[in-house]
Amino acid sequence: MTCPRCDAATIAFSIPAALRAHLPDDRPGAALCTHCLTVTPLDDPPDDTPSFERVSDAFPANDEAAVAFACVLALLDSLVLYRAELDAVATYAETHGADVLRALERLDADDGVDAHFDVARRTRQLEQFI
Ligand SMILES: [Zn+2]
Repeated sequence: MTCPRCDAATIAFSIPAALRAHLPDDRPGAALCTHCLTVTPLDDPPDDTPSFERVSDAFPANDEAAVAFACVLALLDSLVLYRAELDAVATYAETHGADVLRALERLDADDGVDAHFDVARRTRQLEQFI
């Protein structure tokens, strides 16, 4: 599928139950836009974890952490609303080896990405409570 916001290519991934429990949408997967980072819930995601490097090399290298980081991006735009959820998902990512704040900083510095939200501002806000 293409991104509903900007028409760029997306990558589809499955969301493990432990993460899904913290997301506002309970569908089993999502599609991440390679350009604006919009995350769209999916009913029928592929079993294989895609290469998140197609979006940015700021993504954590291991699959579990990369999927969790994509879920952080899904919640980040609604940070105030999903504070507890974001904390849980960011903790999951960190437990699996990601440095969430560092990854967000690198993502913000990546010229190939043009996020639909202000990554630097959201990162500063996130920093205050994780
Ligand atoms: Zn997009």
